[in-house]
Amino acid sequence: MPIKTHACVSITCDVCDEPYAPEGYPVHFANTAEARGLARFYGWLVTGDGQVICHEADIAHQTAMDGLLPPEPVTQVPGQIAIDGQVAE
Ligand SMILES: [Zn+2]
Repeated sequence: MPIKTHACVSITCDVCDEPYAPEGYPVHFANTAEARGLARFYGWLVTGDGQVICHEADIAHQTAMDGLLPPEPVTQVPGQIAIDGQVAE
């Protein structure tokens, strides 16, 4: 029985460095598409640019997820007077 070397992919949370290990041991995937798909299936956040955040619900993870959100939309229309008295251009 020959011993062969294979390349594989594993996922680690960008916030807490915990590996993706739903059964208690790190899972090795054949490729990144498979890894991202299964991580998403189990509730991990996987962004298009490769960031991975596990489903831990502490402040550090929430802060990381908040950082991925787009900026607040501007709700003031041109000519409208804001609460602070300034007129939008
Ligand atoms: Zn994490």
